[in-house]
Amino acid sequence: MALFQNATFLKSATSQRDLPRDSRVEVAIAGRSNAGKSSALNALANRRRLAFVSKTPGRTQEINYFQIAEGTYLVDLPGYGYAKVPGEIKQRWQTFLGEFLSTREALAGLVLVMDVRHPLTEIDRVMLDWFAPTGKPVHVLLTKSDKLTRQAALKTLHAVDVFLAQHHPRHSVQLFSSVKRSGLEEAERVIAGWLGITRPAEIKNPRLKGSKTGGETP
Ligand code: GDP
Repeated sequence: MALFQNATFLKSATSQRDLPRDSRVEVAIAGRSNAGKSSALNALANRRRLAFVSKTPGRTQEINYFQIAEGTYLVDLPGYGYAKVPGEIKQRWQTFLGEFLSTREALAGLVLVMDVRHPLTEIDRVMLDWFAPTGKPVHVLLTKSDKLTRQAALKTLHAVDVFLAQHHPRHSVQLFSSVKRSGLEEAERVIAGWLGITRPAEIKNPRLKGSKTGGETP
């Protein structure tokens, strides 16, 4: 069973007052539109449509909460960067997002999804800058790794690792592919660790065999 197998959509939030108050621990997942965040979320949930909520028109400026266990949440921060919205709304959304990342106490860590072919875009760096002062850990999923040769993917993995090391002492980065379902275990291990939950024992999925990720082995 996958880590987020039983995740259920709880609510969308557009301002601080909408955020759940019973939250003990949260992990946020963010990524530029089209980076592959929904596919990664769905792969982690072993479902096709967990992340559909964030794709609904009008919902692209909302923080979406999925409950994993009592007081334990996965927070989907919809595709920033390409939101086709008027400047004022965009500004309000960015302020909310910035505030959320820098002040949300329950937030244990940030998963940032990047297309391995286009890592560290300007907006990725803005997100990292908002989050860095918290001193909380960042985990980068370099997804669509199936689109590159192993060698090219490893080169990007190294470059992103070097960049992150300069700003985020608590960082990790890995290769990921939703299509090949590779890198799932590594991502689950990091997220489960942040949430303080143990992955279900039956999580061992034969399809994950041969998954080669660039991160450290346990
Ligand atoms: P989002 O906007 O960040 O949620 O991105 P999506 O998950 O919707 O993915 C954007 C596009 O990239 C879609 O056409 C996906 O099919 C494709 N995609 C996502 N993940 C992968 C992957 O791991 N490998 C490949 N080859 N394509 C992917």
